[in-house]
Amino acid sequence: MAAANGKPILISGGGIGGLITAFALARNGLPVRVFEQADEFREVGAGIQLGPNIFRVLEKIGLKEEVLADAHIPPSQEMRNAITGDLITNIPLGAEFSKRFGGQPYAVIHRADIHGRFLKACRSNNLITLETSRRVDSYVDSADGVAITLEGGDKVEGRALIACDGMWSKIRERIVGDGKPRVSGHIAYRGVLTREQVPKDLWRPDVVLWAGPKCHFVHYPLRRGELFNLVAVFHSDHYEEGWNAEGSKELLFNHFKGLRPEVTRLLELIDTWKMWVLCDREPVKNWTQGNVTLLGDAAHPMLQYLAQGACMATEDAVVLAEKVAEQPGNLPAAFKAYEQARYLRTARVQIMARVYGDFYHARGVTAELRDMAVGGRTSEQAYEGISWLYGGP
Ligand SMILES: Cc1cc2nc3c(=O)[nH]c(=O)nc-3n(C[C@H](O)[C@H](O)[C@H](O)COP(=O)(O)OP(=O)(O)OC[C@H]3O[C@@H](n4cnc5c(N)ncnc54)[C@H](O)[C@@H]3O)c2cc1C
Repeated sequence: MAAANGKPILISGGGIGGLITAFALARNGLPVRVFEQADEFREVGAGIQLGPNIFRVLEKIGLKEEVLADAHIPPSQEMRNAITGDLITNIPLGAEFSKRFGGQPYAVIHRADIHGRFLKACRSNNLITLETSRRVDSYVDSADGVAITLEGGDKVEGRALIACDGMWSKIRERIVGDGKPRVSGHIAYRGVLTREQVPKDLWRPDVVLWAGPKCHFVHYPLRRGELFNLVAVFHSDHYEEGWNAEGSKELLFNHFKGLRPEVTRLLELIDTWKMWVLCDREPVKNWTQGNVTLLGDAAHPMLQYLAQGACMATEDAVVLAEKVAEQPGNLPAAFKAYEQARYLRTARVQIMARVYGDFYHARGVTAELRDMAVGGRTSEQAYEGISWLYGGP
C-alpha cells in the first residue's frame, strides 16, 4: 500500500503507544515521523502486566515473541488479606489459562523492556523517522493534511497527526476540551529490586496482591525472573503531574503500618520510590477531528487496576493500522472507523478499572463480601468473569 501523497503520518509522543502505532502503520508501507519531547526515547523503571489481549494483537504484527523474550510468565495471580495474611483467591495463569484465551499467555514485563522492543522494531523499518527533543506545540488541519509547529518554531507537514502524547495531551485539550484529568485520590509508589535483594522466603514467581483497608500492595518478578517489581497504592489527595516524582517513605509507612510482615519487610527494601498520582478521565467518543486523532492515554486514560493502559494503547495501534489499510486514501474516514471500533471497549476498561480499585481497597463488611465473592469462584468462573477483556479485541 503506498502513501496517498507521499507525506508522512505524524505522531506526537514516543511512549509505548506512539512507537507501536508507528510500527503498525509503517509495516503497511506508510511513512511515519515520531516526535518525542524528551531528549531520548525511554521509559521509567517499573513493571507492567500484560493480559492475553495484547499478545493477540502483537502476534498479528509479528512482535509477540520479541516481547515475550524479556517477560516473565507468572504461574498464578493470588490475592491475600494484608491484615490476616489469609489467601482470598488464587487464579492459575499457566497452561489452563492460556488454553482458555486462545493460546495467549499472561505475562509481566519491565516497561523499559517492552518500550525497548518497540523501539528496536521501529528502528528496523526505514519508513519510520524517530526524532527526540521535538515537542509538538500546535497544529493546523486542512483538506491537504496537517502542519504542526514544534517547540522552537519548526514547522512540519504531514498527511495526518496521531496524538500519542499521554494523559496531559494538549491535542486532546483542543479536540475534546475536557480540562485536567480526574484525580482519583489514589497514589502509586513503585520500586524494582534485583532477585538477589529479595529475601528467599519472600520471593514468589506469582503476581501477588495484598488487599488492605484503603491500600494494596502488588509484587511480581520481571525480566525472566531477574528483577522483582513492587507497587504500593494508598489513598491520598496529593496531586503532582508527570511520571517521575519521588515518593516520601514516611508517607508510605503511615499507610502500611500494622500490615503483614511479608508486606512491610518488602517495602523496607526500597530506598527511592517513584510516585504516580493516579488520574483518569470520563470516557468520550469524539476523539477524532478531520486528519487528527488520539490514541492510548491521550484518548482514554484509565486507572491501572485492570493493568490495561499499555495493552489498550497497543490494541488501538493495531486496529488503527487495520482501518487505515482498509481505506488508505481517506484518513479522516479511517480514523473515525478506528474511533468507532475502540471507544466502547476502552470506556468499559476505564469504568471497570475504577470498580476494581474500590474493590481492592474495601474495608469492613465490604471487604468480607469481596472475599466471599471472589474466594468462592472456580478458575473457570474467574476466567469467565474477565473474558470480555482478555477475549478481545
Ligand atoms: C502505576 C501504574 C501502573 C500501570 N500498570 C499497567 C499494567 O500493569 N499494564 C498496562 O497495560 N498498563 C499499565 N499502566 C498504564 C500504562 O503505563 C499507560 O497506559 C501507557 O504507558 C500509556 O502509553 P502512551 O504511549 O499512551 O502514553 P505515555 O506513556 O504517557 O507516553 C506519552 C509520550 O508522549 C511524550 N509527549 C507528551 N507530550 C508531548 C508533546 N507535546 N510532544 C512530543 N512528545 C510528547 C511523553 O514524553 C511520552 O514519551 C500503568 C500505569 C500506572 C501509572
